[in-house]
Amino acid sequence: MQEVTIEAVPLDRLASLLEEERAARLGDYAERARVLLSGRTVWNVNATTAGGGVAEMLPALLAYCRGAGIEARWLALDGSADFFRLTKRLHNHLHGSNGDGGQVGDDQRAIYEGVLADNLAALAAIVRPGDIVVLHDPQAVGLAAGMREVGAHVVWRCHIGRDTTNVHTDAAWNFLRPYVELSEATIFSRREYAPDWLSEDRLWVIPPSLDPFSTKNRELLRPDVEATLRVAGIVPTRDSRGSAGFVRRDGSLGTVRRHTDLFASGGGLPPDARIVLQVSRWDRLKDMAGVLAGIAGHLSSLPDDVHLVLVGPDTSGVSDDPEGAEVLAECLTIWREQPSAGQRRLHLCTLPMDDIDENAHLVNALQRYAAVVVQKSLAEGFGLTVTEPMWKARPVIASKVGGIQDQITDGESGLLLDDPRDLAAFAALVLEVTQDHYLAERLGAAAKERVRKRFLGDRHLIQYVQLFERLLAD
Ligand code: UDP
Repeated sequence: MQEVTIEAVPLDRLASLLEEERAARLGDYAERARVLLSGRTVWNVNATTAGGGVAEMLPALLAYCRGAGIEARWLALDGSADFFRLTKRLHNHLHGSNGDGGQVGDDQRAIYEGVLADNLAALAAIVRPGDIVVLHDPQAVGLAAGMREVGAHVVWRCHIGRDTTNVHTDAAWNFLRPYVELSEATIFSRREYAPDWLSEDRLWVIPPSLDPFSTKNRELLRPDVEATLRVAGIVPTRDSRGSAGFVRRDGSLGTVRRHTDLFASGGGLPPDARIVLQVSRWDRLKDMAGVLAGIAGHLSSLPDDVHLVLVGPDTSGVSDDPEGAEVLAECLTIWREQPSAGQRRLHLCTLPMDDIDENAHLVNALQRYAAVVVQKSLAEGFGLTVTEPMWKARPVIASKVGGIQDQITDGESGLLLDDPRDLAAFAALVLEVTQDHYLAERLGAAAKERVRKRFLGDRHLIQYVQLFERLLAD
């Protein structure tokens, strides 16, 4: 297993964004947590240290916990290619999709339990009776039995799901049920995601949150946004006053490297292009290919200066996502089929993952630079890629699926696409926002306020304290 070191961050930093009463409530809960968790460690175990929403959220939340005097630690699993193929299949199934079409039967259970037995040996050596272990997603839930044997309290947090069941969700739940039932509490991002056999008293609904001070989200001035994108080789912007420096997660300073190879296709963005951006892992359910086909098919009706930029991680950099290279290749095939005039307005960009702070800063700059951010997912657990541009006051167009519906109020804090497969409707929404500057501004401003009200860390941390209070009282 790999431990990620987390530096403490004082809660005051978060409190500085909150009204007095809200900040006081956070302080109150922090004190309760300090007393409750004294002498215990809160362990978090997930599948990867980089790539995806869980790896994005954990360091910020745990840093605030440590700042509040709570011993919170983060470990990532070691897994084999077979293991991650299986857990990706379970991930897709929980979203209602067939995934790679493989089995989730006894042979797969043997692979799953074999990998987790190796991880358990490492974990059991450091977890003490009375500690709390939060296992994230299907990859880690199989550690529940071993952790309870050690005498730890076990919470399973599932970040994915689907509002209604189908044969695929049933298959995944059949596989996972024996492990989930050993957890004393379970957390879902939406109530609808919980299987009906789970008893209410063990069920918590806690949506994710965003950290406004992370490298991904911290405020950037426009000249610095432009300098970052210029130095990185993404947009040859003209304003030369800014800096391409950034603040790393550990507080040290970094500078964007000069990259020459970020575009898998369609490089050469003009400096005055208005960007329609989707940032996602190369996961089929994010539908990067659908975004590309939807914009490519309607380019002639969009203003000439509108360009599409699809941004995802370098596909070798996300260890738990075996689908990535295939999905990127599918997008490249669609791009090659376009006429050259269209190709010039369609860009596939892969960001290096060898420096995750630089990666986060590049995403920050791109989200701030974009004219419109889209997230045309076919399924979505929550979608931090929606929260992030909302916080940056960008107009967001996103599918009316999963947790996206909890974030965007249609027509107020963004626009929802009722049917994510309706490419004409998608392009029409993009046209609407790119043609109407006032609409874009209004949606962006309301989006930021919505995130401030509902999706910052204080609400999230308080919900955890409430859960732990109940867990330790039983
Ligand atoms: N992300 C990133 N670099 C990339 C692609 C994605 O940092 O090249 C981040 C993105 O900004 C977000 C997270 O990965 O913070 C994705 O989280 P989300 O909840 O949207 O979806 P998930 O990937 O967990 O399904």
